[in-house]
Amino acid sequence: MAAHHTWSDRSRERLATCDPRLISLMNATLKASPLDLVIIEGHRSHERQAELLAAGKSKLGPGRSKHNASPSKAVDVAILRDGKVAWTDRDAWLQFGGLVKGVAATMGLTIRWGGDWDGDFDAAEHGFWDGPHFELVED
Ligand SMILES: [Zn+2]
Repeated sequence: MAAHHTWSDRSRERLATCDPRLISLMNATLKASPLDLVIIEGHRSHERQAELLAAGKSKLGPGRSKHNASPSKAVDVAILRDGKVAWTDRDAWLQFGGLVKGVAATMGLTIRWGGDWDGDFDAAEHGFWDGPHFELVED
């Protein structure tokens, strides 16, 4: 049975930097999710994008990530268990990815999930499995 989830203030602030379609998608996902969620990032500055590239945490240079758009065309959202991001819970992430895609479909939104990139969950240690990442396909 789904609990009654709400966004934290920080999640709400981060989500507010996103495209209205992503805001609607995340609000609907939060209602449907059996787990609590946290918004990790919405809009990302070119400066921060350059830092992530330099640190090997992104493959994209400044201006090339959907996070760099303003409002952001990408959102990073994580599943929580007992207040902590459930990074190692493979099944929960796969279910969550499916949930977000399903909710998007009911809204007529075409999205791309970072969890579908670069192989599978077990590649997470190698850096580019991106389960928290959802982006709009169309501008
Ligand atoms: Zn992302």
